[in-house]
Amino acid sequence: MKVELLQHSNLKICAHAIRTCWQSFDKSDEGGEKDKELIDRVGNKFKHASTLEHLTYTFYISGVSRALLQELARHRMASPSVKSTRYTLKELKDEDTFTNGMSMIELKEKYTDISQVYSDIHMRRASKYLVFTDVLGVDFASVVALENLRLMLKDGVANDKAKFCLPESYKTELTWTINARSLQNFLSLRSSKAALWEIRDLAIMIFETLPNEHQYLFNFCVEER
Ligand SMILES: Cc1cc2nc3c(=O)[nH]c(=O)nc-3n(C[C@H](O)[C@H](O)[C@H](O)COP(=O)(O)OP(=O)(O)OC[C@H]3O[C@@H](n4cnc5c(N)ncnc54)[C@H](O)[C@@H]3O)c2cc1C
Repeated sequence: MKVELLQHSNLKICAHAIRTCWQSFDKSDEGGEKDKELIDRVGNKFKHASTLEHLTYTFYISGVSRALLQELARHRMASPSVKSTRYTLKELKDEDTFTNGMSMIELKEKYTDISQVYSDIHMRRASKYLVFTDVLGVDFASVVALENLRLMLKDGVANDKAKFCLPESYKTELTWTINARSLQNFLSLRSSKAALWEIRDLAIMIFETLPNEHQYLFNFCVEER
């Protein structure tokens, strides 16, 4: 999984929005400590949280599963633009076999521990397309599903139909824009120990990718991590 911060708003934009309410522009320190304190006081402590919506962040998130994507898409107050399987499944067409015709049971018999799996060239190739869980049975089931999909595409089945047998572990990527208010909600829900491990890892990476001077607005959301 990779997270890259593509853009973020300057804190002074949010401070300006807040100062609009009181017309106190003369007190601005252009996103410095006075503005930071103002944003925290008004946006967090006074719960005038709509002012936090003036801060936006755009991330490029890659190497996450479509299972994670479903969870991320539930966060309605954010905008995802996602890699389309409809247009990109051709990436599998020219691949060689991932299983050499072996079933999941046969794969389990061949590889008995994780280190063998990850040193195997076919499994490493498969991991370019799949998020592995480190539970061998689950990962082999994903590899077999990937192989089935590859064969389907080789047989000339159109992407639109072939995509219906994609495993949930199939990797995807997206550009994701979210404002600070919604990001607080996302980080609180998804960095919690109750969240699924993959989206929890993502939430923590997103927090760590934020500019240092912004993190103070989100510290309380990731306390449980
Ligand atoms: C641990 C965990 C387990 C989960 N398990 C399941 C599950 O089993 N099944 C399942 O379907 N989902 C599940 N979810 C997803 C969850 O129900 C939410 O859809 C998801 O977390 C998005 O949260 P949200 O609605 O707060 O975010 P957003 O959609 O981004 O909304 C942000 C905020 O805007 C407000 N808001 C948005 N839309 C409305 C609205 N229509 N009416 C009123 N206020 C609104 C709310 O204050 C909301 O918190 C789970 C989430 C977590 C964290």
